[in-house]
Amino acid sequence: ARAARAAAHHGPGRTADGHAVKLLVNLGAGQAPEDAAAVDAEGVGLLRTELLYLDRPDAPTVDEQRAAYRRIFAAFAGRKVVVRTLDAGADKPLPFLTDPDEPNPALGVRGYRTGRRHPELLDEQLRAIADAAEGSGAEVWVMAPMVSLPGEAAAFAAQVRGHGLPVAGTMVEVPAAALDAGRILDACDFVSLGTNDLAQYAFAADRLDHELADLLDVWQPVLLRLVATTATAGRARAKPVGVCGEAAGDPLLAPVLVGLGVTSLSMAAASVPDVRAALAERTLEECRALADAVLAAPDAAAARQIALGG
Ligand code: PEP
Ligand code: MG
Repeated sequence: ARAARAAAHHGPGRTADGHAVKLLVNLGAGQAPEDAAAVDAEGVGLLRTELLYLDRPDAPTVDEQRAAYRRIFAAFAGRKVVVRTLDAGADKPLPFLTDPDEPNPALGVRGYRTGRRHPELLDEQLRAIADAAEGSGAEVWVMAPMVSLPGEAAAFAAQVRGHGLPVAGTMVEVPAAALDAGRILDACDFVSLGTNDLAQYAFAADRLDHELADLLDVWQPVLLRLVATTATAGRARAKPVGVCGEAAGDPLLAPVLVGLGVTSLSMAAASVPDVRAALAERTLEECRALADAVLAAPDAAAARQIALGG
């Protein structure tokens, strides 16, 4: 019992019966990697590389990027770092990359799609990541944002491996990608669900529009069905399926996500202790039963109420 209590407060994430769930931190602009590395977590599940591109008139050079990645990988030596390639456009515009006159930026040339116009930027970024990863001691995985099709996942994975980086994945933040997660996972090594954008696109509701917060609620059972579809595809192929959107840091939702089959949760550093404690309270079987009940709920409020235990 003492070991179980300790597991609730320290070390790798696990359910009450010892099923491992990786707890990782999100790292973005304004956060020192050394501070993030001080958190009791198994690594970085989402490195928002936009942080290297913000507040400047042009793209960083390969040398600048290499130095920044070296610092991050050094801080996480011995641990995993999932690097997301540049996710520009829509809510993350960049002056040298995004078209300010795009009529519908959230549905436009953003995320992985910016490589259509500027393939050299992705190539330079992968070169810098690969150089910095070499000999760093960190386990570096690379993933692309805003992928919609298996063909995009295959092209990205080939490009990543071409740079000598062994592990390539994609984010799942477009409903088409969730529905086709099996084929996407056949084309790459892992996926990570970006629930912020997945909700935006599932409900056709601007993620920044607070008036639509009820539609963007991560407890919407239909959104969780997209998570379940993705996780089931991962389990069938024994490939990791993480969540790195805000939903991953909700201690009430974490057991549900694990019950749906999610294998890692990446969140703001401050959320890690509560999520670890929440997982330690339930067995995997209890998480699965909870997930089934939540999926069957008629709406988000009812789903949340089920998780609250009533
Ligand atoms: C997401 O969309 O859920 C996500 C993790 O990416 P971002 O919030 O950076 O778009
Ligand atoms: Mg996103």
